[in-house]
Amino acid sequence: MFDALRRWREQRVLRASSLPDALWREALDALPFLAIHTEAELARLRDKVVLFLNGKGIVGAGGHEVTPLERTIIALQACVLILELDFTLYDDFENVIVYPGEFVPGWEWEDEAGVVHRNDDALAGEAMPGGPVVLSWPDVAASADWDAAQMNLVIHEFAHKIDMVDGDANGCPPMPEGLRGEWQRALHVAYEDFVARVDAGEDTAIDPYAAEAAGEFFAVLSEVFFAEPALLLDEYPDVYRAFARFYRQDPAARAF
Ligand SMILES: [Zn+2]
Repeated sequence: MFDALRRWREQRVLRASSLPDALWREALDALPFLAIHTEAELARLRDKVVLFLNGKGIVGAGGHEVTPLERTIIALQACVLILELDFTLYDDFENVIVYPGEFVPGWEWEDEAGVVHRNDDALAGEAMPGGPVVLSWPDVAASADWDAAQMNLVIHEFAHKIDMVDGDANGCPPMPEGLRGEWQRALHVAYEDFVARVDAGEDTAIDPYAAEAAGEFFAVLSEVFFAEPALLLDEYPDVYRAFARFYRQDPAARAF
């Protein structure tokens, strides 16, 4: 029933709203890694972007004013992850907050001994559990072109957001039971291997930041999965296959 209601609402939004062609083209041009999508996929992506922009606020903070193009570029990348998944994965937040540069979250947390810590490190992006995704615009812009940056901030943070739907960002997002065993085996083996390679000082093609934690491994490898799928297929084929089942996409097949 809820599904039917949601679909009805989505159809109503899609009939009532649209994205100007010029804006859509300009946003696609800013994200060259999306060129591997088929026209049919791009059309579905565009519908998702309309729904995203309708349902979420993308708001400036710290004096930053978000332009329509910036808004579209952010929404487009957020929707790449859920192109074949349900929008409910993004139900637990209302807003994306965009700063004019790196920001200091200033949040505090209490460790197991009851000591309160404060984080004063400047960040380019953050996905808050049960809260907004926070982004630095210059870092979004700098990572729009995968070939130049070899990273993608927006996909990274939204992968964390999906991971957090069932609790901590631990590299195991909510998924069908039938996939869980394959997922855990593939990611565990690959993560151990990757950490060992980074520890040994190897110059890895995948960002060594992925070795920080299982949650970062999932987020960084999700960037690679969407932006340079052949690399992930080459380095960790079992992870690629688990991701393809999870995201219900086969981006490496598009690339050839
Ligand atoms: Zn991260």
